Amino acid sequence: MIAERGAGYLPKLVLATGNKNKVREIQELLADLPFTIATIEDYPGLVMPEEDQPSFAGNAALKAEAVSKFSGELVLADDSGLEVDALGGRPGVYSARYAGEEGNYAANNQLLLQELSGLPPEQRAARFVCAIAICIPGDQTYIIEESCSGVIAEELKGKGGFGYDPLFIYEPAGLTFAEMSAEEKNKVSHRGRALKRVRKLLGKIFIF
Ligand code: IMP
Repeated sequence: MIAERGAGYLPKLVLATGNKNKVREIQELLADLPFTIATIEDYPGLVMPEEDQPSFAGNAALKAEAVSKFSGELVLADDSGLEVDALGGRPGVYSARYAGEEGNYAANNQLLLQELSGLPPEQRAARFVCAIAICIPGDQTYIIEESCSGVIAEELKGKGGFGYDPLFIYEPAGLTFAEMSAEEKNKVSHRGRALKRVRKLLGKIFIF
């Protein structure tokens, strides 16, 4: 496909997320691939669909297909969140709006601490889940899902990352994701693991 369009041509890959933290992490992990990366900000007039599916995979597919239909391009969408065992898997697909307001990380973290208050570390198990949907125009939508297990801390620690990172202890490192460098987090995170598989999939489809 790359050769057909002539030397120097790089197909476009649109990232279907308005979350700048996710865009940064995805760009870091896919920077060396032979694509021109675009974001939804490059498509004025595009309205993202409501994330009303019960699963990460369903919401990722919904976003990727809507943006691909609008742009006519190859699209990658990420839907992710935190599942806490003691909360029966909540906040799950509602992770971004757990405390009510969309994307209020401080309020979400405070509510999580409150709901787990008094529980010992062995009852604070959790996992981040990331579903990535790749929509190929005129073809199909591929879904890749990965997770990363951890323990919810009893207080916020670290300044890096975003969202629940200051409360998510990655046990092999003994640190929260917010205390790890971006590179260290990307190596083991739910999103990093999913994107590693995305690289392989795109390599097979676009032959690089
Ligand atoms: P989405 O835009 O509906 O996929 O929202 C995902 C939400 O899950 C984010 O707003 C964060 O609260 C949380 N989340 C997903 N991935 C991460 C991560 O890598 N670190 C911290 N929080 C995350």
